[in-house]
Amino acid sequence: MLFDTHVHLNADQFMEDRDEVIQRALDEGVTEMVVVGFDRKTIPIAIEIAEQYDFIYAAIGWHPVDAIDMQDEDLQWIEELSAHEKVVAIGEMGLDYHWDKSPKDVQKDVFRQQIALAKRVNMPIIIHNREATADIVEILKEEQAGETGGIMHCYNDDVSYAKECLDLGFHISLGGPVTFKNATDPKIVAQEVPLEKLLIETDCPFLAPHPNRGKRNEPAYVKLVAEKIAELKEISVDEVAKETNKNAKNLFRI
Ligand SMILES: [Zn+2]
Repeated sequence: MLFDTHVHLNADQFMEDRDEVIQRALDEGVTEMVVVGFDRKTIPIAIEIAEQYDFIYAAIGWHPVDAIDMQDEDLQWIEELSAHEKVVAIGEMGLDYHWDKSPKDVQKDVFRQQIALAKRVNMPIIIHNREATADIVEILKEEQAGETGGIMHCYNDDVSYAKECLDLGFHISLGGPVTFKNATDPKIVAQEVPLEKLLIETDCPFLAPHPNRGKRNEPAYVKLVAEKIAELKEISVDEVAKETNKNAKNLFRI
């Protein structure tokens, strides 16, 4: 009963063999997943996939890297689509300081607008954070984003920030990096964050877990993430699967 909370099965990398990829996930014990759409191209495909499979849900938002491209109509479109029965969260949204396509102030503005949207439609948010944790936490506080709660997706910073996010009412989702041999922070986070606040994900096709690092990632590999967390917490994989599944269903209200 593995719940992969963040997949991009709507990405070009899965156009050829998406059905087989989904079948492999089912064979490995994945029972639910959320497909994330983050622009004009990927949002409709996310919803289409969610309509096609009972056990697949959609999240829709605007990616911070492309914040500069977002028009008012896009935000309105996302708000309208959020009423779709398979849409369970708004995002991914957030800040990405690694790429400089969109200036920081534009990213912050688009982030704040999406938090406001999520509050209007009463849905949890999915946060993308790259090299921007301090600003993310500040905005979450200022916008009182704890009202909706949500997910720090593929969390990759230290445990003290993770605890701040927990205090703000957010869940921490761990992906492939927790399995990397040279990873330190995600491993400490896996140990320190209580199981009832943890989620698992692949973020496929990116960030494939060890020993598939560097290859195309897919939802079947979320099992490797669950196994690593179980090892780090010294509990069974079943317990990790069961509890993170329950956490995801509560959060997404499914
Ligand atoms: Zn993503």
